[in-house]
Amino acid sequence: MITHSLQEGAIVLDPFSVRMVLALVTLTLIVISCVSSRRRSPYAEWWRVALCLFFVGNAAFLLNGTASQVWANPAGKALVVAGTFCVWAGARTLRDRRASPWMLAPAPLLSGLASALDDPGASVWSGGLVYLCLTTLGITLAAMELWFAKPVRSRITKFLSIAAGLTGIYYLLRASIFVLAGPDSEIFRAFFGYAPAALMHLMLLVSVSSTMNTLSNKQLIKRLRERANRDHLTGLLNRGAFLELASRQLKGPLSHHGAALVLADLDHFKAVNDEHGHSAGDAALRAFATACTASVRSTDLVARYGGEEFVLFLPGATQQRAEAIASEISSRLSAMQGPDGLPFPTVSYGVTSTGADTPDLAFMINVADAALYSAKAQGRNRVVGADPVEIESAPEANHSPS
Ligand code: GH3
Ligand code: MG
Ligand code: MG
Repeated sequence: MITHSLQEGAIVLDPFSVRMVLALVTLTLIVISCVSSRRRSPYAEWWRVALCLFFVGNAAFLLNGTASQVWANPAGKALVVAGTFCVWAGARTLRDRRASPWMLAPAPLLSGLASALDDPGASVWSGGLVYLCLTTLGITLAAMELWFAKPVRSRITKFLSIAAGLTGIYYLLRASIFVLAGPDSEIFRAFFGYAPAALMHLMLLVSVSSTMNTLSNKQLIKRLRERANRDHLTGLLNRGAFLELASRQLKGPLSHHGAALVLADLDHFKAVNDEHGHSAGDAALRAFATACTASVRSTDLVARYGGEEFVLFLPGATQQRAEAIASEISSRLSAMQGPDGLPFPTVSYGVTSTGADTPDLAFMINVADAALYSAKAQGRNRVVGADPVEIESAPEANHSPS
Protein backbone atom coordinates (compact mmCIF):
# COMPACT_ATOMS: atom_id res chain seq x y z
CA MET A 1 0.00 0.00 0.00
CA ILE A 2 1.35 3.41 -0.91
CA THR A 3 0.74 4.99 2.46
CA HIS A 4 2.63 2.92 4.99
CA SER A 5 6.05 3.15 6.53
CA LEU A 6 7.65 0.52 8.74
CA GLN A 7 8.59 1.43 12.30
CA GLU A 8 9.95 -1.33 14.47
CA GLY A 9 7.93 -3.89 12.58
CA ALA A 10 4.54 -2.14 12.98
CA ILE A 11 2.68 -0.67 10.04
CA VAL A 12 2.08 3.02 10.63
CA LEU A 13 -0.25 4.67 8.17
CA ASP A 14 0.55 8.16 7.07
CA PRO A 15 -2.59 10.21 7.88
CA PHE A 16 -2.11 12.75 5.10
CA SER A 17 -1.76 10.10 2.38
CA VAL A 18 -4.72 8.09 3.69
CA ARG A 19 -6.79 11.27 3.69
CA MET A 20 -5.81 11.94 0.09
CA VAL A 21 -6.88 8.42 -0.88
CA LEU A 22 -10.18 8.86 0.98
CA ALA A 23 -10.78 12.23 -0.74
CA LEU A 24 -10.04 10.75 -4.17
CA VAL A 25 -12.32 7.74 -3.62
CA THR A 26 -15.11 9.98 -2.32
CA LEU A 27 -14.76 12.33 -5.28
CA THR A 28 -14.86 9.38 -7.70
CA LEU A 29 -18.03 8.08 -6.04
CA ILE A 30 -19.64 11.53 -6.27
CA VAL A 31 -18.85 11.68 -9.99
CA ILE A 32 -20.18 8.15 -10.54
CA SER A 33 -23.39 8.95 -8.65
CA CYS A 34 -23.88 12.10 -10.77
CA VAL A 35 -23.39 10.46 -14.15
CA SER A 36 -24.88 7.01 -13.48
CA SER A 37 -28.57 7.88 -13.47
CA ARG A 38 -30.63 10.92 -14.26
CA ARG A 39 -33.62 9.71 -12.28
CA ARG A 40 -32.59 9.35 -8.66
CA SER A 41 -34.39 7.91 -5.70
CA PRO A 42 -34.55 9.83 -2.39
CA TYR A 43 -32.10 7.27 -0.96
CA ALA A 44 -29.56 8.02 -3.72
CA GLU A 45 -30.07 11.77 -3.29
CA TRP A 46 -29.34 11.66 0.44
CA TRP A 47 -26.31 9.49 -0.15
CA ARG A 48 -24.95 11.95 -2.71
CA VAL A 49 -25.38 14.84 -0.27
CA ALA A 50 -23.61 12.74 2.38
CA LEU A 51 -20.71 12.03 -0.01
CA CYS A 52 -20.32 15.74 -0.77
CA LEU A 53 -20.32 16.59 2.95
CA PHE A 54 -17.75 13.86 3.68
CA PHE A 55 -15.60 15.12 0.82
CA VAL A 56 -15.63 18.78 1.89
CA GLY A 57 -15.33 17.85 5.59
CA ASN A 58 -12.29 15.65 5.03
CA ALA A 59 -10.78 18.27 2.70
CA ALA A 60 -11.06 20.74 5.59
CA PHE A 61 -9.07 18.35 7.79
CA LEU A 62 -6.24 18.57 5.25
CA LEU A 63 -5.73 22.12 6.55
CA ASN A 64 -4.78 20.79 9.99
CA GLY A 65 -1.36 22.13 10.92
CA THR A 66 -1.82 25.30 8.89
CA ALA A 67 -3.02 28.73 10.03
CA SER A 68 -6.50 27.82 8.73
CA GLN A 69 -6.88 24.99 11.23
CA VAL A 70 -8.64 27.36 13.63
CA TRP A 71 -11.76 27.51 11.41
CA ALA A 72 -11.23 24.48 9.15
CA ASN A 73 -11.12 21.96 11.99
CA PRO A 74 -14.52 22.85 13.55
CA ALA A 75 -16.00 23.17 10.04
CA GLY A 76 -14.64 19.74 9.05
CA LYS A 77 -16.12 18.12 12.15
CA ALA A 78 -19.51 19.76 11.59
CA LEU A 79 -19.55 18.63 7.94
CA VAL A 80 -18.57 15.02 8.66
CA VAL A 81 -21.24 14.78 11.38
CA ALA A 82 -23.75 16.32 8.93
CA GLY A 83 -22.74 13.67 6.35
CA THR A 84 -23.31 10.90 8.89
CA PHE A 85 -26.78 12.22 9.69
CA CYS A 86 -27.55 12.40 5.94
CA VAL A 87 -26.71 8.68 5.72
CA TRP A 88 -29.30 8.22 8.46
CA ALA A 89 -31.82 10.37 6.53
CA GLY A 90 -31.22 8.25 3.41
CA ALA A 91 -31.73 5.03 5.37
CA ARG A 92 -35.01 6.43 6.71
CA THR A 93 -36.37 6.76 3.16
CA LEU A 94 -36.08 2.97 2.82
CA ARG A 95 -38.76 2.82 5.52
CA ASP A 96 -40.84 5.55 3.84
CA ARG A 97 -39.81 7.97 6.58
CA ARG A 98 -38.69 11.54 6.15
CA ALA A 99 -36.06 13.48 8.04
CA SER A 100 -36.87 17.09 8.88
CA PRO A 101 -34.22 19.84 9.21
CA TRP A 102 -34.65 19.99 12.99
CA MET A 103 -33.65 16.31 13.17
CA LEU A 104 -30.55 16.86 11.03
CA ALA A 105 -29.22 20.30 11.95
CA PRO A 106 -28.56 20.16 15.73
CA ALA A 107 -25.84 17.48 15.69
CA PRO A 108 -23.52 19.18 13.13
CA LEU A 109 -24.07 22.56 14.79
CA LEU A 110 -23.26 21.12 18.21
CA SER A 111 -20.15 19.41 16.90
CA GLY A 112 -18.85 22.56 15.18
CA LEU A 113 -19.62 24.68 18.24
CA ALA A 114 -17.93 22.27 20.67
CA SER A 115 -14.80 22.31 18.52
CA ALA A 116 -14.83 26.08 18.00
CA LEU A 117 -15.05 26.70 21.76
CA ASP A 118 -12.22 24.27 22.55
CA ASP A 119 -9.19 26.13 21.11
CA PRO A 120 -9.26 24.59 17.62
CA GLY A 121 -6.14 26.52 16.53
CA ALA A 122 -4.04 24.66 19.08
CA SER A 123 -5.52 21.14 18.96
CA VAL A 124 -6.82 19.06 16.07
CA TRP A 125 -8.87 17.17 18.65
CA SER A 126 -10.79 20.22 19.88
CA GLY A 127 -14.34 19.15 20.77
CA GLY A 128 -13.19 15.62 19.92
CA LEU A 129 -15.48 13.75 22.32
CA VAL A 130 -18.61 15.53 21.10
CA TYR A 131 -17.58 14.85 17.50
CA LEU A 132 -16.96 11.13 18.14
CA CYS A 133 -20.17 10.68 20.15
CA LEU A 134 -22.32 12.40 17.50
CA THR A 135 -20.74 10.39 14.69
CA THR A 136 -21.44 7.22 16.67
CA LEU A 137 -25.03 8.35 17.14
CA GLY A 138 -25.61 9.15 13.44
CA ILE A 139 -24.13 5.93 12.16
CA THR A 140 -25.94 3.81 14.79
CA LEU A 141 -29.27 5.41 13.88
CA ALA A 142 -28.54 4.63 10.21
CA ALA A 143 -27.73 1.00 11.10
CA MET A 144 -31.06 0.66 12.94
CA GLU A 145 -33.07 2.14 10.07
CA LEU A 146 -31.31 -0.14 7.59
CA TRP A 147 -32.05 -3.21 9.72
CA PHE A 148 -35.79 -2.48 9.58
CA ALA A 149 -35.76 -1.23 5.98
CA LYS A 150 -38.43 -2.60 3.62
CA PRO A 151 -38.53 -5.28 2.39
CA VAL A 152 -37.47 -6.59 5.79
CA ARG A 153 -35.93 -9.72 4.32
CA SER A 154 -33.63 -7.81 1.94
CA ARG A 155 -30.10 -9.19 2.22
CA ILE A 156 -28.58 -5.98 0.92
CA THR A 157 -30.02 -3.76 3.64
CA LYS A 158 -29.12 -6.34 6.31
CA PHE A 159 -25.54 -6.34 5.00
CA LEU A 160 -25.45 -2.53 5.02
CA SER A 161 -26.94 -2.44 8.49
CA ILE A 162 -24.18 -4.73 9.74
CA ALA A 163 -21.49 -2.63 7.99
CA ALA A 164 -22.93 0.55 9.53
CA GLY A 165 -23.32 -1.20 12.90
CA LEU A 166 -19.64 -2.23 12.87
CA THR A 167 -18.67 1.34 12.03
CA GLY A 168 -20.84 2.53 14.91
CA ILE A 169 -19.12 0.10 17.30
CA TYR A 170 -15.74 1.27 16.00
CA TYR A 171 -16.68 4.89 16.70
CA LEU A 172 -17.93 3.99 20.15
CA LEU A 173 -14.58 2.31 20.93
CA ARG A 174 -12.84 5.32 19.44
CA ALA A 175 -14.73 7.66 21.77
CA SER A 176 -14.04 5.39 24.79
CA ILE A 177 -10.28 5.16 24.12
CA PHE A 178 -10.26 8.90 23.45
CA VAL A 179 -11.58 9.47 26.99
CA LEU A 180 -9.63 6.70 28.76
CA ALA A 181 -6.22 6.98 27.10
CA GLY A 182 -6.32 10.30 25.23
CA PRO A 183 -5.75 11.08 21.55
CA ASP A 184 -1.96 11.10 21.93
CA SER A 185 -1.78 7.60 23.45
CA GLU A 186 -0.15 4.83 21.44
CA ILE A 187 -3.27 2.67 21.39
CA PHE A 188 -5.44 5.53 20.09
CA ARG A 189 -2.99 6.45 17.34
CA ALA A 190 -2.49 2.83 16.29
CA PHE A 191 -6.17 1.83 16.07
CA PHE A 192 -8.38 4.92 16.33
CA GLY A 193 -6.37 7.80 14.87
CA TYR A 194 -7.25 9.60 11.65
CA ALA A 195 -5.68 7.02 9.35
CA PRO A 196 -7.38 3.83 10.69
CA ALA A 197 -10.68 5.74 10.92
CA ALA A 198 -10.29 6.80 7.29
CA LEU A 199 -9.90 3.14 6.32
CA MET A 200 -13.14 2.38 8.17
CA HIS A 201 -14.80 5.20 6.21
CA LEU A 202 -13.52 3.68 2.98
CA MET A 203 -15.06 0.33 3.88
CA LEU A 204 -18.44 1.96 4.49
CA LEU A 205 -18.25 4.11 1.35
CA VAL A 206 -17.51 1.13 -0.86
CA SER A 207 -20.24 -1.00 0.79
CA VAL A 208 -22.94 1.62 0.32
CA SER A 209 -21.86 2.72 -3.16
CA SER A 210 -21.64 -0.79 -4.57
CA THR A 211 -25.21 -1.52 -3.47
CA MET A 212 -26.53 1.92 -4.33
CA ASN A 213 -27.95 1.19 -7.77
CA THR A 214 -29.86 -1.90 -6.65
CA LEU A 215 -31.46 -0.18 -3.67
CA SER A 216 -32.11 3.01 -5.55
CA ASN A 217 -33.84 1.18 -8.43
CA LYS A 218 -35.94 -0.85 -6.00
CA GLN A 219 -37.05 2.34 -4.29
CA LEU A 220 -37.90 3.98 -7.63
CA ILE A 221 -39.88 0.96 -8.84
CA LYS A 222 -41.80 0.85 -5.56
CA ARG A 223 -42.66 4.55 -5.83
CA LEU A 224 -43.75 4.23 -9.45
CA ARG A 225 -45.94 1.25 -8.57
CA GLU A 226 -47.52 3.20 -5.71
CA ARG A 227 -48.15 6.15 -8.01
CA ALA A 228 -49.72 3.90 -10.62
CA ASN A 229 -52.17 2.65 -7.97
CA ARG A 230 -53.25 6.11 -6.86
CA ASP A 231 -55.73 8.63 -8.17
CA HIS A 232 -53.79 11.76 -9.01
CA LEU A 233 -56.34 14.28 -7.73
CA THR A 234 -57.35 12.78 -4.38
CA GLY A 235 -54.42 10.48 -3.55
CA LEU A 236 -56.91 7.65 -2.92
CA LEU A 237 -56.56 4.24 -4.55
CA ASN A 238 -57.69 4.17 -8.15
CA ARG A 239 -60.32 1.79 -9.47
CA GLY A 240 -57.93 -0.89 -10.76
CA ALA A 241 -55.91 -1.07 -7.55
CA PHE A 242 -59.11 -1.12 -5.47
CA LEU A 243 -60.63 -4.01 -7.41
CA GLU A 244 -57.43 -6.02 -7.10
CA LEU A 245 -56.90 -5.37 -3.38
CA ALA A 246 -60.54 -5.78 -2.34
CA SER A 247 -61.05 -9.05 -4.23
CA ARG A 248 -57.79 -10.36 -2.76
CA GLN A 249 -59.11 -9.53 0.73
CA LEU A 250 -62.47 -11.18 0.02
CA LYS A 251 -60.62 -14.40 -0.81
CA GLY A 252 -58.05 -13.99 1.96
CA PRO A 253 -57.84 -15.62 5.41
CA LEU A 254 -59.77 -12.79 7.12
CA SER A 255 -62.77 -13.12 4.79
CA HIS A 256 -64.71 -15.24 7.34
CA HIS A 257 -65.18 -12.06 9.39
CA GLY A 258 -67.27 -10.65 6.55
CA ALA A 259 -66.99 -7.19 5.01
CA ALA A 260 -69.03 -4.17 4.00
CA LEU A 261 -68.92 -2.14 0.83
CA VAL A 262 -70.03 1.49 0.41
CA LEU A 263 -70.56 3.28 -2.89
CA ALA A 264 -70.76 7.07 -2.63
CA ASP A 265 -71.76 9.62 -5.25
CA LEU A 266 -71.64 13.39 -4.80
CA ASP A 267 -75.03 15.01 -5.37
CA HIS A 268 -75.60 17.41 -8.26
CA PHE A 269 -71.90 17.62 -8.72
CA LYS A 270 -72.17 18.80 -12.29
CA ALA A 271 -73.87 21.96 -10.97
CA VAL A 272 -70.84 22.66 -8.72
CA ASN A 273 -68.60 22.63 -11.79
CA ASP A 274 -71.03 24.64 -13.86
CA GLU A 275 -71.71 27.32 -11.23
CA HIS A 276 -68.36 27.63 -9.44
CA GLY A 277 -65.81 26.25 -11.86
CA HIS A 278 -63.82 23.06 -12.21
CA SER A 279 -61.37 23.96 -9.44
CA ALA A 280 -64.26 24.23 -6.94
CA GLY A 281 -65.35 20.76 -8.11
CA ASP A 282 -61.82 19.43 -7.63
CA ALA A 283 -61.71 20.95 -4.14
CA ALA A 284 -64.94 19.13 -3.27
CA LEU A 285 -63.52 15.81 -4.51
CA ARG A 286 -60.39 16.29 -2.40
CA ALA A 287 -62.44 17.30 0.65
CA PHE A 288 -64.60 14.21 0.30
CA ALA A 289 -61.47 12.04 0.07
CA THR A 290 -60.16 13.66 3.27
CA ALA A 291 -63.48 13.07 5.04
CA CYS A 292 -63.39 9.41 3.96
CA THR A 293 -59.86 8.67 5.13
CA ALA A 294 -60.55 10.45 8.43
CA SER A 295 -63.58 8.21 9.06
CA VAL A 296 -62.15 4.76 8.32
CA ARG A 297 -59.40 2.55 9.73
CA SER A 298 -56.00 2.35 8.09
CA THR A 299 -56.77 -1.22 7.02
CA ASP A 300 -59.93 -0.20 5.11
CA LEU A 301 -59.72 0.48 1.38
CA VAL A 302 -60.94 3.81 -0.01
CA ALA A 303 -60.86 4.50 -3.74
CA ARG A 304 -62.04 6.97 -6.32
CA TYR A 305 -64.15 4.71 -8.47
CA GLY A 306 -64.50 7.24 -11.26
CA GLY A 307 -65.61 10.88 -11.69
CA GLU A 308 -67.43 11.94 -8.51
CA GLU A 309 -68.03 8.38 -7.37
CA PHE A 310 -66.13 6.66 -4.56
CA VAL A 311 -66.03 3.18 -3.08
CA LEU A 312 -65.07 1.94 0.37
CA PHE A 313 -64.30 -1.65 1.34
CA LEU A 314 -64.50 -2.24 5.08
CA PRO A 315 -63.24 -5.69 6.13
CA GLY A 316 -64.92 -7.04 9.26
CA ALA A 317 -67.52 -4.23 9.32
CA THR A 318 -71.23 -4.95 9.78
CA GLN A 319 -73.97 -3.34 7.70
CA GLN A 320 -74.82 -1.09 10.64
CA ARG A 321 -71.24 -0.01 11.15
CA ALA A 322 -70.77 0.72 7.44
CA GLU A 323 -73.92 2.86 7.37
CA ALA A 324 -72.69 4.75 10.44
CA ILE A 325 -69.37 5.38 8.71
CA ALA A 326 -71.16 6.75 5.64
CA SER A 327 -73.14 9.17 7.86
CA GLU A 328 -69.93 10.17 9.63
CA ILE A 329 -68.27 10.99 6.31
CA SER A 330 -71.18 13.28 5.38
CA SER A 331 -71.04 15.01 8.78
CA ARG A 332 -67.33 15.64 8.35
CA LEU A 333 -67.82 16.97 4.84
CA SER A 334 -70.60 19.35 5.89
CA ALA A 335 -68.34 20.70 8.65
CA MET A 336 -65.69 21.59 6.06
CA GLN A 337 -65.70 24.71 3.92
CA GLY A 338 -64.81 25.00 0.26
CA PRO A 339 -62.94 27.81 -1.49
CA ASP A 340 -64.59 31.22 -0.78
CA GLY A 341 -66.57 29.63 2.03
CA LEU A 342 -68.77 27.61 -0.35
CA PRO A 343 -70.47 24.59 1.21
CA PHE A 344 -69.54 21.24 -0.30
CA PRO A 345 -72.21 19.18 -2.06
CA THR A 346 -74.16 16.53 -0.20
CA VAL A 347 -73.52 12.83 -0.86
CA SER A 348 -75.68 9.75 -1.49
CA TYR A 349 -74.55 6.28 -0.40
CA GLY A 350 -75.42 2.69 -1.19
CA VAL A 351 -74.24 0.21 1.42
CA THR A 352 -74.04 -3.55 1.39
CA SER A 353 -72.35 -6.14 3.56
CA THR A 354 -71.58 -9.80 3.54
CA GLY A 355 -71.13 -12.52 6.13
CA ALA A 356 -68.84 -15.49 5.96
CA ASP A 357 -70.37 -16.79 2.69
CA THR A 358 -68.67 -14.15 0.65
CA PRO A 359 -70.02 -13.38 -2.79
CA ASP A 360 -67.61 -11.99 -5.30
CA LEU A 361 -66.71 -8.33 -5.37
CA ALA A 362 -68.54 -7.51 -8.61
CA PHE A 363 -71.76 -8.80 -7.04
CA MET A 364 -71.27 -6.64 -3.93
CA ILE A 365 -70.64 -3.58 -6.08
CA ASN A 366 -73.78 -4.23 -8.11
CA VAL A 367 -75.83 -4.55 -4.92
CA ALA A 368 -74.39 -1.34 -3.46
CA ASP A 369 -75.01 0.42 -6.79
CA ALA A 370 -78.66 -0.56 -6.71
CA ALA A 371 -78.90 0.87 -3.17
CA LEU A 372 -77.14 4.06 -4.32
CA TYR A 373 -79.61 4.37 -7.18
CA SER A 374 -82.39 4.07 -4.63
CA ALA A 375 -80.77 6.80 -2.46
CA LYS A 376 -80.74 9.13 -5.46
CA ALA A 377 -84.36 8.29 -6.29
CA GLN A 378 -85.45 8.98 -2.70
CA GLY A 379 -84.13 12.56 -2.90
CA ARG A 380 -80.31 12.23 -2.44
CA ASN A 381 -78.22 13.20 0.65
CA ARG A 382 -78.90 9.90 2.42
CA VAL A 383 -77.53 6.46 3.20
CA VAL A 384 -79.46 3.47 1.84
CA GLY A 385 -78.63 -0.04 2.93
CA ALA A 386 -79.30 -2.86 0.48
CA ASP A 387 -82.11 -5.02 1.80
CA PRO A 388 -82.57 -8.69 0.84
CA VAL A 389 -85.01 -7.79 -1.92
CA GLU A 390 -82.40 -5.57 -3.53
CA ILE A 391 -79.79 -8.30 -3.21
CA GLU A 392 -82.02 -10.72 -5.07
CA SER A 393 -82.78 -8.18 -7.77
CA ALA A 394 -79.26 -6.80 -8.05
CA PRO A 395 -78.45 -5.87 -11.63
CA GLU A 396 -76.39 -8.39 -13.53
CA ALA A 397 -74.74 -5.81 -15.76
CA ASN A 398 -71.25 -4.58 -15.03
CA HIS A 399 -71.30 -1.51 -12.89
CA SER A 400 -70.05 1.70 -14.38
CA PRO A 401 -69.95 5.04 -12.57
CA SER A 402 -72.40 7.66 -13.74
P1 GH3 B 1 -76.27 13.16 -9.38
O1 GH3 B 1 -76.69 13.86 -8.14
O2 GH3 B 1 -77.40 12.48 -10.02
O3 GH3 B 1 -75.12 12.25 -9.15
O4 GH3 B 1 -75.82 14.31 -10.39
P2 GH3 B 1 -74.35 14.74 -10.74
O5 GH3 B 1 -74.41 16.11 -11.32
O6 GH3 B 1 -73.50 14.58 -9.54
O7 GH3 B 1 -73.92 13.64 -11.77
P3 GH3 B 1 -73.46 13.75 -13.29
O8 GH3 B 1 -73.05 12.35 -13.68
O9 GH3 B 1 -74.48 14.41 -14.11
O10 GH3 B 1 -72.19 14.67 -13.27
C1 GH3 B 1 -70.94 14.23 -12.81
C2 GH3 B 1 -69.98 15.37 -13.08
O11 GH3 B 1 -68.70 15.09 -12.48
C3 GH3 B 1 -69.70 15.58 -14.54
C4 GH3 B 1 -68.22 15.73 -14.65
O12 GH3 B 1 -67.85 16.88 -15.35
C5 GH3 B 1 -67.77 15.85 -13.22
N1 GH3 B 1 -66.42 15.32 -12.97
C6 GH3 B 1 -65.94 14.08 -13.22
N2 GH3 B 1 -64.65 14.01 -12.87
C7 GH3 B 1 -64.28 15.23 -12.42
C8 GH3 B 1 -63.06 15.78 -11.91
O13 GH3 B 1 -62.02 15.13 -11.80
N3 GH3 B 1 -63.07 17.10 -11.51
C9 GH3 B 1 -64.20 17.86 -11.62
N4 GH3 B 1 -64.14 19.11 -11.20
N5 GH3 B 1 -65.34 17.35 -12.08
C10 GH3 B 1 -65.40 16.08 -12.48
MG1 MG C 1 -73.23 12.65 -8.71
MG1 MG D 1 -72.03 9.83 -10.64
